[in-house]
Amino acid sequence: MATNSTDLMRAAVLVGEGDPDTALVVRDEPLPEPGIGQVRVRVTAAALNHLDVWIRKGLPSVPKPRIMGADGVGIVDAVGAGAEAVLAERGISVGDRVVLDPGMSCGACRACASGDTSLCRHFQVLGEHVAGTHAEAVVLPAVGVHAAPAHLDDDAAAALMLTSATSWRMLFTRAQVQVHERVLVWGASSGVGTAALQLCRAAGIETIATTRGEDKVDALRELGADHVIVTGSGEDFGDRVVAGVEDITGGEGVEVAFDHLGKVAWEPSMLALARGGRYVTCGASTGPMPRAFITRLFWKQLSMLGSTMASRHDVEALLAFVRRHEIVPRVDSTFALEDVAAAHRHLESAAQVGKVVLRVR
Ligand SMILES: [Zn+2]
Repeated sequence: MATNSTDLMRAAVLVGEGDPDTALVVRDEPLPEPGIGQVRVRVTAAALNHLDVWIRKGLPSVPKPRIMGADGVGIVDAVGAGAEAVLAERGISVGDRVVLDPGMSCGACRACASGDTSLCRHFQVLGEHVAGTHAEAVVLPAVGVHAAPAHLDDDAAAALMLTSATSWRMLFTRAQVQVHERVLVWGASSGVGTAALQLCRAAGIETIATTRGEDKVDALRELGADHVIVTGSGEDFGDRVVAGVEDITGGEGVEVAFDHLGKVAWEPSMLALARGGRYVTCGASTGPMPRAFITRLFWKQLSMLGSTMASRHDVEALLAFVRRHEIVPRVDSTFALEDVAAAHRHLESAAQVGKVVLRVR
């Protein structure tokens, strides 16, 4: 173990809001102890998500100090009361390498009873509502750890869960995409975008990716994009996508528009969708208030779907699929935990294709 004493661990701690150099400090923190039903995982690698950037900016503002980080991989090294039995049900013991489900539900409400845990009214996210993975150890409910897929190294395993599980739920649980359908993936070089391309390729689903510049086209094709529309960043951004989809589909449109951009993608998606098409989003990074366009909604019989994180069922289905198809999440770059501020700046620069990973040990 890499800590200086048995009771301390290194952690990237959010102490303020704004600039990563002042909002984040890397320091020794008390090593957390697992409570009832919890396990402690010695983190070997963790990933950044846009969630971390938003939280750092105060959107949403969380109590500080707070260790952020929703994604990680590591070794189970301590268990609280009752946790061992929960782990044993899934064939996991102390010493095993695990990936973490960042979504935590109450286990007691109607949504939890139905198994759709991401609809839980008390849903919480690792690193947002409780201490997260950007540290040498993290404590979480035993139900949230899963055996790490053996074909993934630590960097790739750390990069897997939040974006791939989010993407899985959007595509297969919410939009119910079928093999003969076509999916338009907005902002495809993002974490959820690259995951969507990989999942669709493995499932044999045709994809059309959008990206702002030519520089990412090859990487997107490698990940599974059948077509790439280069949008530029001008005001005709949406028009270019609508025209591109029309060309590629011979005027039919796509069955599913997969989005995290929000405002800029909403109206062009309604234009680019085929009749009966589904728009699904997990974000609104360009803004939350597009024109509603209700005439097009009913005339084309569109469905506008929201999606957040993933249920336990989604996570289990995703992991089985990732193992079966040996999917390896795309890691854009790795940083040492001590360089967390640089990792934040890199993610924010939008220069990356895929995930930004922190090597913790
Ligand atoms: Zn619940």
